[in-house]
Amino acid sequence: MISRRSLLASATALPLLARSSTPALKVIVAGGHPGDPECGCAGTVARYTELGHEVVLLYLNRGEGYCGGASLGRCAAIRTAEAGKACQILKARTAFAGQYDGRAMIDASHYAAFARVLEAESPDVVFTQWPIDRHRDHRAVSLLTLDAWWKGEKKFALYYYEVAEDTTMFSPADYVDISSVESRRRAACYAHASQQPDQWYPKQVEITKSRGVASGFPQAEAFLRHPESKRALLP
Ligand SMILES: [Zn+2]
Repeated sequence: MISRRSLLASATALPLLARSSTPALKVIVAGGHPGDPECGCAGTVARYTELGHEVVLLYLNRGEGYCGGASLGRCAAIRTAEAGKACQILKARTAFAGQYDGRAMIDASHYAAFARVLEAESPDVVFTQWPIDRHRDHRAVSLLTLDAWWKGEKKFALYYYEVAEDTTMFSPADYVDISSVESRRRAACYAHASQQPDQWYPKQVEITKSRGVASGFPQAEAFLRHPESKRALLP
């Protein structure tokens, strides 16, 4: 006979996902530059990885165009390292789509190349930037993701996210409570030290507080699902 104590002990030893009976998801957060997925989604990423899901932050470029006071030739290395540090904090992994900061290309060959990157990762859910963001690279990664999704017969769920100072005309409908992971979100954003997070992180907090007011949480990240997309399990 199994005692109640040993039953409890073995239940606690099981991994989280076995207990919740939810299969692990593969989640991709696509962004133009190192720091964008973190700015818009770090709380959601932290929530996902806490639950045992796999998350990849996929950057269109390595931020070659700006890294504070350092010379431009060093930016890719500096910002790749910052992305690695942010992903370590979030228990996620980095991936890079090989484009160049500020010179985003959306033509047939770049659509195909980006689709191959997504296809190789085979995600269940992809979060990408909003197509009416101010930065060209954000709009590019948004269209590259959308095109790959349509051409790939909408295999993954597709959601859009917002970033401070850049996203316009965004009316989200899905919310993730990030109150419990606020310190890790902050640390992941501050890993991008070359981007002077003091200048934008407080604005992102204003956004998540206002999204929290709309959803009944202290702070929330907010998303918009493409109307043709299946629903994903949000954390
Ligand atoms: Zn950006």
